[in-house]
Amino acid sequence: MKYLIAANWKMHKTCAETLDYLDKFLPSVKDILNVEIMIAPPFTALSSASIRLDAAKKEGEFNVKLGAQNMYFEEKGAFTGEISPIMLNELNIDYVILGHSERRHIFKEKDELINKKMYSAIEHGIRPILCVGETIEEREQGITLNVIENQIRKGLAGIEKDMPYIDIAYEPVWAIGTGKTATPEQAEEVHRFIRSLINEMSKGNDDKTRILYGGSVKPENATDLIKQENINGFLVGSASLDPEKFYKIIINSLE
Ligand code: 13P
Repeated sequence: MKYLIAANWKMHKTCAETLDYLDKFLPSVKDILNVEIMIAPPFTALSSASIRLDAAKKEGEFNVKLGAQNMYFEEKGAFTGEISPIMLNELNIDYVILGHSERRHIFKEKDELINKKMYSAIEHGIRPILCVGETIEEREQGITLNVIENQIRKGLAGIEKDMPYIDIAYEPVWAIGTGKTATPEQAEEVHRFIRSLINEMSKGNDDKTRILYGGSVKPENATDLIKQENINGFLVGSASLDPEKFYKIIINSLE
């Protein structure tokens, strides 16, 4: 299984800043082929990034994929402000991040909606990354694994057979943007649980599904986290905004 190191830029970077980043970042990773790299810029920068990555592919720098940070499940219609899978397909988007904790908590997305988006992404050949994670209150109540199980069962309801086309990101809400990383042991406990759950749900067909860790991943903690048996990559927020830091995370993950 090729690990995936993904950058979620959230609401950061204009088109010009995206191109500037790619000019610095792409040459640095062009020989790294044993891990998959993905960048998810904001919607407005996807088109410029897609054209730049296409050009890079022709020059032989081809290991960087593009992702969207969200998507609506319908193909078109009266859904003001939404972006459809067909629009993403036109830009050759490989991945879409769904159910991110900021979507769940700030924009009140529910598991049922996320499930519809998962269906739609798979139907349109875009690989979804389903994000799950518990709040600090849930962790303190000792219900972390129940919360994760519920989010995964509901998020993947009806698409268990599509497990080879899905990745999962475990992002404890209390570790996102707080500088507080889960310890490698805390993360591994949840990752091990997710692995056995998706193995059961897919009847053993989960060997192409990567379980990424997200939440204050930095160059300094990447090596210890990636050593854990069931951590198969990262979904990186703030540290991915700097091309050098993101490059270091990738390099430290390969050691
Ligand atoms: P940070 O790396 O900034 O904690 O964000 C993690 C995240 O939410 C990635 O999706």
